[in-house]
Amino acid sequence: MMSDVLIIGGGLAGLAAAVRLAESGYRPVILETRRKLGGRATSFEDPRSGVVLDNCQHVLMGCCTNLQDLYQRLGVLDAIEWHDTLYWLREDGELDVLTPGRLPGPLHQARALRNLRLLDRAEKREVRRACWSLLRMGRPGRMGWRERTFSEFLDSMNQSPRVCTHFWEPIVISACNLPPDRVAAVHAMQVFQDAFLPSRFAGMMGLPSVPLRDLYDPAEDIITKAGGRIETGCSVRSIAFDDDGVRGVVTADGPLEARHVLSTVPPDRLNKLVPDHVKKVDSRLQDLDRFQCSPILGVHLLLDSPALDIPHLVLPGRAVQWVFNKGVDEQGQQHLHAVISAADDWMNLDEETIVERVLEDLSAAAPSICSRTIVNARSVKEKQATFAATPEIEPFRPMAAPSTIGVHGGDARGLYLAGDWCATGWPATMEGAVRSGYLAAEAITSTHCLVEDLPPSWLASLLSAR
Ligand SMILES: Cc1cc2nc3c(=O)[nH]c(=O)nc-3n(C[C@H](O)[C@H](O)[C@H](O)COP(=O)(O)OP(=O)(O)OC[C@H]3O[C@@H](n4cnc5c(N)ncnc54)[C@H](O)[C@@H]3O)c2cc1C
Repeated sequence: MMSDVLIIGGGLAGLAAAVRLAESGYRPVILETRRKLGGRATSFEDPRSGVVLDNCQHVLMGCCTNLQDLYQRLGVLDAIEWHDTLYWLREDGELDVLTPGRLPGPLHQARALRNLRLLDRAEKREVRRACWSLLRMGRPGRMGWRERTFSEFLDSMNQSPRVCTHFWEPIVISACNLPPDRVAAVHAMQVFQDAFLPSRFAGMMGLPSVPLRDLYDPAEDIITKAGGRIETGCSVRSIAFDDDGVRGVVTADGPLEARHVLSTVPPDRLNKLVPDHVKKVDSRLQDLDRFQCSPILGVHLLLDSPALDIPHLVLPGRAVQWVFNKGVDEQGQQHLHAVISAADDWMNLDEETIVERVLEDLSAAAPSICSRTIVNARSVKEKQATFAATPEIEPFRPMAAPSTIGVHGGDARGLYLAGDWCATGWPATMEGAVRSGYLAAEAITSTHCLVEDLPPSWLASLLSAR
């Protein structure tokens, strides 16, 4: 039977597109190679302990409007807990508790910056000067930095090395999964312009209170009610084309026909699914091998008794950037989760060394951890966690819809692209993935799907050039 739209991949991009297509009267079919949904934002059952763990803590922010819209449509937005206080560890082991004030953005951050005793007065002035510049330039100014790294911006603002390592780096590495000297300035700037500066809610941190995989359960109902289906354990081997464009896909179980195929797989996988003659004519497929990846390491630790009594901890200037308190179970054992973004140097270490190094950093934060027994430790290496959002790759991120313009008569008709690496203006994030899915649904249905950005406070909008 001919399907309306075959979607390759059941990660956030595929799910987002499928939900919007189903709501527009299409019958989407998701083909997912794994036996579960969620792709890189999912959970697994730890064979050692039998406990369901997320592959890594996933954080969203108030400014992630499209992701929240998807959660709303799935009926799981209530499962997101919002935090506006950040806990930063100082070198002397004390905590800086950063809670924004009630003033309109960007003044709401004045109180938090005042409480950041990690930096001295002169260093805070440096931060204020750079934030002011970011605010004033707005989005148009940010676009002028498209071809440069965030370090170049920090240099232009005379930010001292200590301010870079203790303030800018922890935020940028965890938000963009690349250090400031590699990440495209536009992405790092966006974190401040769209999240921390415009309003209190935009900068709030959202944490799922249930395992990530549970968030996707309601998708099946929405898709099947529309006449579509989800096939897990179904690996697509190639995308099939004829002279008119896309004809369908070939799976391990045989061919499936459709005139619309949406690929949401990462670029290296897509490269293997499309025949060379199509790559030659489709402008979106010619640079897939330029994309590089940046790894993330997540370390789950189960302690015999509680050692941390705050929800999370930022560890500036240390190898471990964040620790999340995942709660205490019925036996009184505490689950901590340490995250190391841009974790290239950790990928060849064995689990024992990883746990040792993580504990060294955590002990500085909570010395009581040293006296606890580790009941279970589990490190999850994601070597291909995200594409590396460098300035060089930005021009090669493809659009969702095929273009009709081209020397060979245009891109492959019926082939749509989504995934966090496509052209959304966002770095590799859940929000970027959902936006790409919504943009693909928009291209297929010709109806508007993308959700508006949050409006900045009246003051932030007055001060900025956006
Ligand atoms: C460790 C880690 C931590 C992260 N932390 C955060 C965070 O805190 N906040 C945040 O916003 N983002 C975070 N991210 C990024 C976020 O997870 C991704 O940007 C997002 O999940 C990507 O979704 P996607 O749908 O584009 O791709 P994917 O999730 O990769 O989905 C693609 C799907 O396609 C399937 N597939 C591949 N090949 C085939 C095939 N041949 N046939 C069928 N199916 C196929 C895959 O199995 C996968 O399910 C993190 C990522 C990782 C790995």
